Amino acid sequence: MRFINLTRQNEIGANSYFLEIDRRKIILDAGLHPKKFGEEAIPNYRRVGDGEVDAVFISHAHQDHIGSLPILTRRQPQAKVFLTPATARLTEIMLHNSVNVMSRQRDELALGSYPLFTHREADQSKDLWHEVGLGQRWSIDGERLGANGSELSFEFFYAGHILGSTGILFRNGEQKIFYTGDVNFLDQTLQRRAEFPTEPLDVLIIETTRGDRALRPNYSRAGEESRFLQCVLDAFDRGGSVLIPVFALGKTQEILALLHRFRSSGALEAPIYIGGLSTKITIVYDQLASNSQRSLPGLQLLGTLSPFVLNGRDVPTTQIQRNRLYVLSSGMMTENTLSNQMATRFVDRPEQSIFFVGYADPDSPAGRLKAADDGALLQIEQGASRLPVLCAREEFDFSGHAPRELLMDYIVKTTPKTVILVHGDPPSLDWFKDAIATALPACQVIIPEPDKEYELW
Ligand SMILES: [Zn+2]
Ligand SMILES: [Zn+2]
Repeated sequence: MRFINLTRQNEIGANSYFLEIDRRKIILDAGLHPKKFGEEAIPNYRRVGDGEVDAVFISHAHQDHIGSLPILTRRQPQAKVFLTPATARLTEIMLHNSVNVMSRQRDELALGSYPLFTHREADQSKDLWHEVGLGQRWSIDGERLGANGSELSFEFFYAGHILGSTGILFRNGEQKIFYTGDVNFLDQTLQRRAEFPTEPLDVLIIETTRGDRALRPNYSRAGEESRFLQCVLDAFDRGGSVLIPVFALGKTQEILALLHRFRSSGALEAPIYIGGLSTKITIVYDQLASNSQRSLPGLQLLGTLSPFVLNGRDVPTTQIQRNRLYVLSSGMMTENTLSNQMATRFVDRPEQSIFFVGYADPDSPAGRLKAADDGALLQIEQGASRLPVLCAREEFDFSGHAPRELLMDYIVKTTPKTVILVHGDPPSLDWFKDAIATALPACQVIIPEPDKEYELW
């Protein structure tokens, strides 16, 4: 087996990994870097010969796993792309949205090569997609297999991260290689925890997102949800509203489900606002509600909660009344997004509140606002004047990623001969390397250098 890390740095950026098993060539995920541009934002696909790849596997529809898929399929038009039906629906929406964003960036940032792919190429990429459900064994040529064959096969396992997310188990004779994608071993409000294989593994390729921080000692999702409710009620008592910057895919639907719980128990009744891309994605969540591994399978988020839908033209002028909940993307309050625009109207108002419910890069507007001192002057929107930070701010741990302690439990349970650490910043990777060395001294741990080929057997 050969492994090459196609990302350009050890980080959470544009995920993509090359795998060769028994002379069959495979690529895991096809991400796009959220903060880089042009060639630097794309995995190093040149490392693999054009037209040589047999199969591409997509773990889930977040941009850092699918954002360059049309570029990869342009180079590898013979490859079959395997993904779950839910991931296919979501990926289609995300790719077309990405073309729109890149077309805007072409003008705003004078990027001559943008968009990196067109709407037409996003559609053409779909011709190569093969939808595969959980718990079925398939050959990488796309044939359904029985349970006992010895040829190279794969099977999807539910990953508990967002709708459609999977880990992928490859079996080749006695050998077992498992890629986690992004995983959560804790129940979220909507998404139930992962159901991963527990048999011994030869190679485990595992995400390490939260390796740099321990789980808070008395953390529980239920406790965090109660604290969130109390903070919203306190914010309303101050006479203001609450802005919750969220990723359009995953976090928006988790927060809507949480607000549904509060509403149905009579604890909180307040108008909710969401935005464009989030609406399209929530429609897919609703259509697949009874068909996915989630809590509240009967809940129709849009039909039941009836959120108001805002667009970019509304946000600068809409009247902000008290006791409103603005659940707007993007999660990092990136420039030219609804949450960024709304934040400029919240940040210098002491009666207003901004609640952070997920990861924000320290350099992003949300990251800078999280870290700012009270009263500090902060520029939220490019080119706009700096504003004093006077609004209330709170942070909540509603992560869609497993805490590092539970990832370690999984590693110990499956006793892999080799662990390949991916999807984490260097401090996270180092923590796992040390923790595995202690827990499983015989295990080979690899932090795969970009571009370098690792020959495992
Ligand atoms: Zn993800
Ligand atoms: Zn990811």
